[in-house]
Amino acid sequence: MQISKIVLYGLSMPLHRPYRLSGGRLRFTELDSTFVRIETDTGLVGWGEGCPWGHTYLPAHGAGIRAAAEVLAPALIGLDPRRLEHVNRAMDLALPGHLYAKAPFDIACWDLLGKATGLGAVELLGGRFERPTPIASSISTDTPESMLVEIDEYRARGYRVHSAKIGADVHLDIERIRHLGAALRPGELIIYDVNRAWTPMQARQVMNAVHDFPAMFEQPCETLDQCAAVRASTIHPISIDERLETLDDLRRIVDRGIGEIVNIKLNRVGGLTRARRLRDFCLASGISMLIMDTGGSVIADTAAQHLAQSTPPELRLATWLCQELVHPDPAPGRGSRNEAGCARAPPGTGLGVDPDPGALGEPVAVFPDGGAPTI
Ligand code: MG
Repeated sequence: MQISKIVLYGLSMPLHRPYRLSGGRLRFTELDSTFVRIETDTGLVGWGEGCPWGHTYLPAHGAGIRAAAEVLAPALIGLDPRRLEHVNRAMDLALPGHLYAKAPFDIACWDLLGKATGLGAVELLGGRFERPTPIASSISTDTPESMLVEIDEYRARGYRVHSAKIGADVHLDIERIRHLGAALRPGELIIYDVNRAWTPMQARQVMNAVHDFPAMFEQPCETLDQCAAVRASTIHPISIDERLETLDDLRRIVDRGIGEIVNIKLNRVGGLTRARRLRDFCLASGISMLIMDTGGSVIADTAAQHLAQSTPPELRLATWLCQELVHPDPAPGRGSRNEAGCARAPPGTGLGVDPDPGALGEPVAVFPDGGAPTI
């Protein structure tokens, strides 16, 4: 099997309502998603989606994926997409770094590997554990009262895990945690996601002030060193999100005891191949995981569910479905969806979901240059 053609599509996805995090420092109204369609000489087609969370959240942006494709796609033409290590090495040789730009290509090759072997990606990534993955809500930074109203909306749809975005204002953050923590119900889990907004001093002030609440904190400070310093002075578990990109980052997190939890996001870490490596290292190290994508439609969400559901549930805390925040939906009713607060990898081969024909509009690029998509 050889890759014969690569077609790119771009889709702007407005959020249903503006979303703020990191203490309101970052505000989002629309996501820029890129869909990669990889065609092969067998007629099989694979799909992947790459969608950074805007362009202010991480060193990544939608147009960057399309620009990187100018050098990545030619390096992939002619390769066997089932040979994932070869695919990733070819991309690394063509363009060092830029993991977020490589992710949709890697994911499309996993889709092809599954379709070629007649297996779902979840089986190829380790095998399906039957227990579905709890979905975490994503609660935008707001007043304590408004955040609780939003949590109640998610509760009504079955959600039992909540990711509340806080940060920047020490006193207001303490108030938020006390307000939301006091309303927490049995069986619920809440993660306060700071998205790097605190200095180490602010982190200590807030976290020690709420020592009597069973709280977890995600990415309290900007760097791993800052998070390590905070970890040494709090009783609360810490999750590392934005500062986990590579296996080397994860090794530092584990060796130094910086966090008990990590958030593995497919787009940020470079796709399923690299995310699986991180997952396996976490399994060996007893690190709990959130497994999701950085953003995107049901295609991105579904890719993450294949890794999540092939991860033993004991160390799999939760996932997230970005599809709930954005529109349009390129595969209505299909792929991984909210099922009473949990998500599953769908049945079928590969990712188990393709975008509807025409849902993505006209291609923005076709490789080799001058080609046309074979639809
Ligand atoms: Mg986070």
